[in-house]
Amino acid sequence: MIEKPTPFNDKLLLNILAVSNEATAIYTTDDIVIQFANDAMLGFWGKDRSVIGLPLEEGVPELKGQPFKYMLQQVLRTGITDNGIISAETLINGELQTNYYEYEYRAIPDDNGVPYCVLHTAANVTERERNKRVIAQQQEEAQALTEELEASNEELRLINEELIISNNELDNAQTQLQAAYNSLEESEIALRLAIEAANFGTWHINSVTRAFITSARLRELFGYRADEEITIEDTLAQITDEYRGLVSKKFENAIYNGDDFDVTYQVVGYHDQVIRWLRAIGNLKADPSGEFSNFTGVVMDVSELRRDEQRKNDFIGMVSHELKTPLTSMKGYVQILKSKADKNQDKFSSDVLDKANNQVSKMTTLINGFLNVSRLESGKIQIDKQVFDMALLVKEVEEESITTITSHKVVFAPVVETIVKADRDKIGQVINNFISNAVKYSPAGSTIEVACITINGKALVSVKDQGMGIAPKDIDKLFERYYRVENNSTATIAGFGIGLYLSSEIVERHNGNIGVESVLGKGSTFWFTLPVNLV
Ligand code: ADP
Repeated sequence: MIEKPTPFNDKLLLNILAVSNEATAIYTTDDIVIQFANDAMLGFWGKDRSVIGLPLEEGVPELKGQPFKYMLQQVLRTGITDNGIISAETLINGELQTNYYEYEYRAIPDDNGVPYCVLHTAANVTERERNKRVIAQQQEEAQALTEELEASNEELRLINEELIISNNELDNAQTQLQAAYNSLEESEIALRLAIEAANFGTWHINSVTRAFITSARLRELFGYRADEEITIEDTLAQITDEYRGLVSKKFENAIYNGDDFDVTYQVVGYHDQVIRWLRAIGNLKADPSGEFSNFTGVVMDVSELRRDEQRKNDFIGMVSHELKTPLTSMKGYVQILKSKADKNQDKFSSDVLDKANNQVSKMTTLINGFLNVSRLESGKIQIDKQVFDMALLVKEVEEESITTITSHKVVFAPVVETIVKADRDKIGQVINNFISNAVKYSPAGSTIEVACITINGKALVSVKDQGMGIAPKDIDKLFERYYRVENNSTATIAGFGIGLYLSSEIVERHNGNIGVESVLGKGSTFWFTLPVNLV
């Protein structure tokens, strides 16, 4: 038979609690008097048994200012168990440390259910809590790190995207550059081939340093050996005296004023002493800074062309000269016949002989034109200046025109005294050329106005017609040798395109200007100016 165990008395129970490893204390009354505290609890507090019977904050004054007393009072008053983890500053080995305690304050009711004491159990979980906190902190840090990493990852992704875009752009630019380079290379090859095929010499000058780089062919053109080093001065020295000044002037104008550089001149080869005609064309290019300029160009041998031209001019000159003599004789014979017919009052023969005389005059003018061109080209044209009144010259032209021009009404006004120093015959030729063109290129019956005035210190002679006019595209070229406007209206009008060329050369040799204002279909005004003679 099993013996019924003796029930534990309070003392026994307290003894059991006293050896429990779990720190335990019991408090009573609102003052939270320590009724019981086992060794483990005393160890927490760092106290001995003398604290038993004292209010908590008296026995363990280190707890003052902390919420324990209040919490215990609450449990005792309400009977509601309080548990959790609490941190407390505890003096351990003379050092205040934060410790964590898992605690339970449980109200123990009396037989009537009224709480009369609080059972306090506690375990020091500082180590565990610390670890937990360290882990939490580590997690937090890891999280922050992850977020930071994500942010930089995002940034990297964006940068990457940008890099991909710029990479593509670079690729495109590279492709375009390559294409441009290829086409540049192609055009350079084409240019080189063209230059070689045309046997051009090339040169290149830095206008600031004046470094002069030439091709072998250029050196040959100036009579130097292909491998010889030459300077600008060396090339200038080989240009004949007649042209050296002109070339230097054009050269300086091109470099300092950006003028066109296209000049034809004669050289005598340095070693071979061969006379050559050269044409140089240059182009001035400023570098992007605008500070330095490169002057580049080609030189071609135009000797053969010049010789052909010379032969043609000589031929025209010779033929014109040979034709002039029989024409002069013919004119004489016609005039003798006319005076005879007039004497015999043979009106028919007289009229026919007038016409013959006119035709001979026209032919003489034509032949003189050719002769003048050939003289001009070979530099044999002579300007014999004398002082005269332009008004008187115009009056002479007027008298002549009255007999020769019947198809048009020619008005000479205003014609005012204008003293000039010029070649009277040649200026007369210019006026006659303007008037005969006005007759040729305007309808019969229309009016031609000839004027001679002084304006801005210059003599101005103009011939205005009501003819076909000239298209803007032709105006600049009218004064070129052999240039004729080609259209339906001019097709039936005879001419060689030398009259205006001769006129402009004559006016230029007088330091004058020549020009035309024209409206297609309405008429033209040809004019020239000469400096007035002030003395
Ligand atoms: P030509 O009359 O012998 O052809 P010019 O040198 O005198 O030679 O004239 C050159 C060209 O200028 C002419 O062919 C003509 O087309 C044009 N021209 C000259 N004068 C006039 C004018 N008054 N009206 C219209 N065109 C003209």
